[in-house]
Amino acid sequence: MNRPEIAGVRQWIYAARIKGKYQSIHRASGLLLHAILFITPWLSLGGHPMLRLDLPGRRLYAFGQIFTPSDTIFLVLIGLFLAFSLFFFTALYGRLWCGYLCPQTVFLEEWIRRIEERIEGDRASRMARDRLPYTLDAKGLDKVWRKGLKWTGFAAVAGLLSMTVMSYFSGATALWTGQADEVSYALTGALGALLFADFAWFREQFCNYLCPYARFQGALTDEESLVIAYDARRGEPRRSLFRAAKAKGEPLPQEGACVSCDKCVAVCPQGIDIRNGFQLECITCGRCIDACSSVMSKFNLEPLVHYTTIAETEGRSPKVFRPRTVAYSALLLGIATAFVALLANRHEFEVAVNRAPGSLYTIDNDGGVRNTYLLRVTNNSPEGLTGPFELHVTGMPADAEIISAPLTIEPSQQATVPLIVRVPGGEAIPRALPITVHVEAPFDRVSVHTTFMSGGSVTPES
Ligand code: SF4
Ligand code: SF4
Repeated sequence: MNRPEIAGVRQWIYAARIKGKYQSIHRASGLLLHAILFITPWLSLGGHPMLRLDLPGRRLYAFGQIFTPSDTIFLVLIGLFLAFSLFFFTALYGRLWCGYLCPQTVFLEEWIRRIEERIEGDRASRMARDRLPYTLDAKGLDKVWRKGLKWTGFAAVAGLLSMTVMSYFSGATALWTGQADEVSYALTGALGALLFADFAWFREQFCNYLCPYARFQGALTDEESLVIAYDARRGEPRRSLFRAAKAKGEPLPQEGACVSCDKCVAVCPQGIDIRNGFQLECITCGRCIDACSSVMSKFNLEPLVHYTTIAETEGRSPKVFRPRTVAYSALLLGIATAFVALLANRHEFEVAVNRAPGSLYTIDNDGGVRNTYLLRVTNNSPEGLTGPFELHVTGMPADAEIISAPLTIEPSQQATVPLIVRVPGGEAIPRALPITVHVEAPFDRVSVHTTFMSGGSVTPES
């Protein structure tokens, strides 16, 4: 067994390699996820990164759109959509995310276990070598160089992955050409160190003790969610009936099919014996199914371990439509609709008009009234256009003056300029006059409502 029951002592898991249907799915999904992870930071759309969170610049570049702090609603909606998608997926498919899509599983499967097997050999060799002490004889030195080479490989993978992950924050070109700032490289180093510790030591403990998603499984799944289960009705009693019948050339009995080969336990990356029933540590990776398939195929039988639901094991048909899946679907639809509607009305630049601090209105010597505003324009043009931005104000008397400077703004930048609106003396206007400031660029137009304040009717100085 991978993990003998010794309370309080971690038993190292020596997962054996296995081939089979579910391992082929792992391989395909792992390659696809790696391709997405490594290629995306190098792609751009409309002159901007395809996907990058620029924290110092407070910008999220996502698929041709630029989101700034004033777009927090979009980020909230994206976060909610991802969270409810995961809840929905979990309600239907249990921990398939953990088994096939989680970076922890994918990195361990695609990099770490492969490196370990290449350098330290199969499960039996690794177990035997780990029992040896570090000595200066041939066996001890063999252990030292293999461990050293393995950890060097882990460090290289951790470095590659941390650089790739940080490329989503600091920009791939800058980071890989040494032009990023010191903070980016410090964070890359810290992330690399954490990944190395995870690969070399922490591994399945991350899922069992740290991952919040794993902790919420009980609340997110129900009896209709997909799990891995051992078919005890066919499998028990183990060893006794089945092999004996085969040896005697008698028809195989309907029960007692488990030959107690322990292959399902040897391949488990979580160190579980699934024959003991459903366990929270199970990430539903399907390795035990492939292991049991390789054994049961010799008897032309289906594996004793399989994907199922608790409802199915109790003889009920699983239901896709149930209160929680319907509620999640409705929420996802609502969030997606709100996102699309907001995005459709989103402008390529943002405008905020605020009254200049400490200035409600000013009365000039000629009796005219001035209001001074601060106009903040953020240029999000995905085509990289700089303007020019022209200002107009409506809702004012015809002879009102608008005083503002011409404005051009680099893409992804923000500018704040004063805007003065003046009504000559003699005009009769309300104390608070609703007005609209229009900002026009060749690529978009934004209107913002504000108020022109005065002390009432504007009269010339007597
Ligand atoms: S019991 Fe099977 S499905 Fe669960 S973690 Fe172990 S190998 Fe994967
Ligand atoms: S792999 Fe199948 S036959 Fe072998 S111990 Fe596991 S359940 Fe039994």
